[in-house]
Formats: sequence, C-alpha cells, structure tokens
Amino acid sequence: AKFLLSLLNDVLDMSKIESEKMKLTTAPFRMDDVISQLRDIFQLQMEQKGIEFTLDCEAGDRLYVGDSLRLSQILTNLLSNACKFTQRGGHISLTLRETDRTDGDAGLSFCVRDDGVGISPEDQERIFLSFEQAQRRPGVPGTGLGLAISRSLVELMGGELSVKSRPGEGAAFSFSIRLPLCRGEDAPAQPEE
Ligand code: ADP
Repeated sequence: AKFLLSLLNDVLDMSKIESEKMKLTTAPFRMDDVISQLRDIFQLQMEQKGIEFTLDCEAGDRLYVGDSLRLSQILTNLLSNACKFTQRGGHISLTLRETDRTDGDAGLSFCVRDDGVGISPEDQERIFLSFEQAQRRPGVPGTGLGLAISRSLVELMGGELSVKSRPGEGAAFSFSIRLPLCRGEDAPAQPEE
C-alpha cells in the first residue's frame, strides 16, 4: 500500500511538472526542522541496514523562505536512493553549507554522498529521465521517477541537480540554490518541547 501511494504521488507530481502546473510555495521555515525530520525518517532505517549515517548541516539553525516540503522531498528521494544502493557497512552523508549571504538571500549547497554500488558513466544522464533506471536489481523497488522529479524541483528552485559517481565507489548527488532570508517578524514559531 505504501509503495502504491508513493507511486501515485510520483505520477501526479510528474504530470504536474510536465504540464507546467507545479508551483512552489514560499513560506518562512527553519532549516533545523527539515533536517530533524530527515533524521527521524532515516536514522533507524540506516542503522537497521548497518549503514553509518552522518548529517553535517551547517545552516541548520537558520531561517529561510521557500518550499520546505519540496526541499524535504528532494532530500528524502536522494537519501532513500543512497540507502537502497549502499550495502551493509557503508556510509551515507548529507552535507549542507551556506556558501554566501547577501542582505536579502543566501546561497545553499546540498550534497548526498554514499559509498555504495555507484553508477556507470552511460547511466549517469539516463537516470534523470522519467521511468529510467540503471541495472535493475532484484528486490529493490522503485519507479524510476524520483530523480526526474527531484531534478525538476531543483530547477524550479533555480538550481541544478548533478551526480558524480564511479561504479563500485558510490555516488554524490549535489545541488546549489538561493533562498531569501527570513526577517525576524516573519519567523515561524518555535516548536513546543
Ligand atoms: P527509483 O529509485 O524509483 O528507481 P530514481 O529516479 O530515484 O528511481 O532513480 C533512478 C535510478 O538511478 C535507480 O533505479 C538507480 O539505478 C539509480 N540510482 C539513483 N540513486 C543512486 C545511488 N545513490 N547509487 C546508485 N544508483 C542510483
């Protein structure tokens, strides 16, 4: 049921993107909330698979304006792929850096890195197309839509999703975007303890 629901959501997202109806929302958010949500989703999953998971997020305590739900969706997709294609004993990290800041906005760079199976040079462009997957692996579920959606969402945010990988050595997916800074009076309420 979970798989069917995610398939349905992916198909809906992809058709929204293709008909140019996908719109991002803009609301103030705490990067911390996005990161701790990802920690909640992935920590246990990676532990159970015997993978060391590192969150190295410098801009965690800062406030931005943007579509935090879609940003989580991109990072969730990259992390769940990393988890799917990394074997027991492997390592996965999410790195986030604020690279620069002006009066009104900040540059942010994200990278999800793993030391799993990696992707051959021929497959590195293909995997971003809808329904395309590299070598099918028995028992690894997937629709081949996640990266196509993620790439389009990153583009809507003004960035570009790219991959560096060598077969057998793992993969690193990265993108950089700019987000407006949130002024004090617009800040979202601190979650209650
Ligand atoms: P899905 O995961 O549903 O198959 P995606 O579009 O998210 O679809 O990924 C497409 C393909 O790209 C995957 O099937 C896999 O072959 C390859 N891929 C994605 N991420 C990784 C990764 N971190 N390591 C190795 N291969 C990957």
